[in-house]
Amino acid sequence: MDLPVDEWKSYLLEKWALLPKSVQVTISTAETLSDIFLHSSSLLQPEDEMFLKQLSSSCSVEKDSGAPLFYREEGNKRFQEKEYMGAAVLYSKGVSHSRPNTEDISLCYANRSAALFHLGQHEACLKDIVRAGMHGYPERLQPKLMIRKTECLVNLGRLQEARQTISDLENSLTTKPTLMPSSHQILQRNVQQLKMKIQEKETLPESFPAALTKALEDMALGEENKQISGASLSVSLCTDPLKGRHLVATKDILPGELLVKEDAFVSVLNPGEMPPLRHCLENKWDTRVTSADLYCHRCLRHTLATVPCGGCSYAKYCSQECVQQAWDHYHSTECSLGGLLLTLGVFCHVALRMTLLARFEDVDRVIRMICDKTGRKDTCLPESKDLVKTFGYTNQGESEENSETCEPSIPGCNVNGKYENNYDAVLSLLPHTEKHSPEHKFICAVSVSALCRQLKATSLQAQTTGLKSPRLKAVTPGLCTDLTVWGVAMLQHMLQLQCNAQAITSICYAGSKESIITNSRQVRLATGVFPVVSLLNHSCSPNTSVSFTSTVATIRAAQQIAKGQEILHCYGPHESRMGVAERQQRLSSQYFFDCSCPACHAETLRAAVAPRWEAFCCNTCRVPMQGNDVLSCSNESCTNSVSRDRLVSRLQDLQQQVHTAQKLLRSDRPEQAIQQLLECQRAAENFLSAEHTVLGEIEDGLAQAYATLGDWRQSAAHVQKSLQVVEARHGPSSVEIGHELFKLAQVLFNGLAVPEALDAIWKAEKILLVHCGPESDEVQELREMRSCLLDSSFTPVRPLV
Ligand SMILES: [Zn+2]
Ligand SMILES: [Zn+2]
Ligand SMILES: [Zn+2]
Ligand SMILES: [Zn+2]
Repeated sequence: MDLPVDEWKSYLLEKWALLPKSVQVTISTAETLSDIFLHSSSLLQPEDEMFLKQLSSSCSVEKDSGAPLFYREEGNKRFQEKEYMGAAVLYSKGVSHSRPNTEDISLCYANRSAALFHLGQHEACLKDIVRAGMHGYPERLQPKLMIRKTECLVNLGRLQEARQTISDLENSLTTKPTLMPSSHQILQRNVQQLKMKIQEKETLPESFPAALTKALEDMALGEENKQISGASLSVSLCTDPLKGRHLVATKDILPGELLVKEDAFVSVLNPGEMPPLRHCLENKWDTRVTSADLYCHRCLRHTLATVPCGGCSYAKYCSQECVQQAWDHYHSTECSLGGLLLTLGVFCHVALRMTLLARFEDVDRVIRMICDKTGRKDTCLPESKDLVKTFGYTNQGESEENSETCEPSIPGCNVNGKYENNYDAVLSLLPHTEKHSPEHKFICAVSVSALCRQLKATSLQAQTTGLKSPRLKAVTPGLCTDLTVWGVAMLQHMLQLQCNAQAITSICYAGSKESIITNSRQVRLATGVFPVVSLLNHSCSPNTSVSFTSTVATIRAAQQIAKGQEILHCYGPHESRMGVAERQQRLSSQYFFDCSCPACHAETLRAAVAPRWEAFCCNTCRVPMQGNDVLSCSNESCTNSVSRDRLVSRLQDLQQQVHTAQKLLRSDRPEQAIQQLLECQRAAENFLSAEHTVLGEIEDGLAQAYATLGDWRQSAAHVQKSLQVVEARHGPSSVEIGHELFKLAQVLFNGLAVPEALDAIWKAEKILLVHCGPESDEVQELREMRSCLLDSSFTPVRPLV
């Protein structure tokens, strides 16, 4: 998903292989990005562009006039099955395909308001009712909507407005008796009921205090670091030839302390992992749900009530404000490119958006800077010398080796030595041009070049036809002046992204509405660039944790960090997720360095015994098996031995069975799931270590199944066992243990085991506070659970999810 789709990638690889040797050499040995770009770009032929165009047409982002009705009907089906969440998303898809001010869009909004109402999202429901009205909701259907509006207002305690809406409705009923007598009666009855409800509420004292005041005190960093924007005073920016730029603790840091809080310079929502539907007419419209349907494409907030871009069916936002902001800053250019951007992949999209955002800082300066950096790095025009001084630039790439010969200023910092979240800092991130393979550079350069040509074509079209809004015109001239410059900049960004792209993750709560314990898993929501976070070096056992709220990254100390120690985070290959060989391989191929962190060091020294969470064990002695192709029992008096292949295939069978059980669970057949899982458990105990990951999955499934059946005691017992597996792998104070304890707390809470629940809540909170901070959803929910339990008048309610 980062790189272009496979078809385009293999097309270009083939093209590369057929190039004359001399041309390959020219590109491979080109010294500057602009040479690489110009050479590659000159090889892009019209037939290549045609091929790419065809590919892009299969991920169409145009509004399709037939789609709204289709999605509305699909949504209605879900609605009837009381599957309100699914219904809301389908109505949103209908909204995205509708043109503004049509009956289509107003009906989709109105239907969605009904789904949101059933989900208890009254504020969002009210907004949709207003939208339905704005886009011309049919008058004959108005009364229904006004009833719903009143109910929302009553639920929100906005009684005066509720009264007003009811009286408006009554007026319209008497002045326009256009409705059928029967529905008229129903309406009258509804009106009477609502009036009674309002009266009841008015006589009641204020029932819920303003309980939802969020603890935001910790969101602030305290005093701001003068050297690095968005960092706390406890860190400082250093540079040395070996480590490059890095952050160091200026004082002793406690676990959970907030160290960096930075909004992404740029972020692009990942389109989701589902392959596009192709050559399949009956599935012309996709009803599958991806994160592109559930999160605002600008601020990444989760929402069921998206507002679409007026021009395409792809971009969706949480609010009109985000629609506008996105349009002004980048989407006016991106809108017509939608299908092409999806084909060229997220990195290309991020690269384009970076240049579009940079343009808003200062066009001329940025363009001169890019020229200076990428094209003429050896020529020192007076002007460019000036720039080097102004922006603290050293030569790109090689700067790490000879930094001591330059001024003491650190790359990316401004005249005052301050490092900020801006385009200067972005440009100071290393592209490692010389380390990427020639093929990779070719793929990136040709893709960027195709994008440039499309940009030029659309902007010319817009200028000649004058079709688009004046806003688009305002954007395009800047792009047209010199597309090569923009192309080179984008190529540089694409190469930078391999090492500097940050996955913006979110905890995704899976499971149907019936599932009592939320099964959380991390999903990669978007790809972003965070210049300050990028300063951190990697460790396979880092001393910090990163979490995200909307597009803001937060780095917290995950353990005590002594003054003078380096602040480290993990680029992905964490010691608890993969073995040292795999980590080393990934880090060197993607990030171009050999990891020598303490975890790697210790693990290389240790013998090649599989970690406990992957270990096979002897079926008689229950101790680990050792060896390569043939494994034998590590108990010397035991003669058991077995081929690795056999064990691996047994493991695969077992995993298959666990998947089947998980499916049973999802299709609401907990009893069968339990049977299947217990069988799996017996099979697993014969050859897997007690802390094997698969055993953890089995325990987790059992816990969910028993929770569904309302058997809290059993459920809690299985979560406890799953906790042990997680602890063996991730350690007792890891964020993973935090999530697991959160589950335990939910189970005990629902089982009303008050003292045990309070204990689990306390433990979970303690760990999650360190990793995610007090504003995280899980911590907030834990606190709500606690106050419920401590409230003596508390009566059990079903899930808080
Ligand atoms: Zn938004
Ligand atoms: Zn659009
Ligand atoms: Zn390492
Ligand atoms: Zn044995």
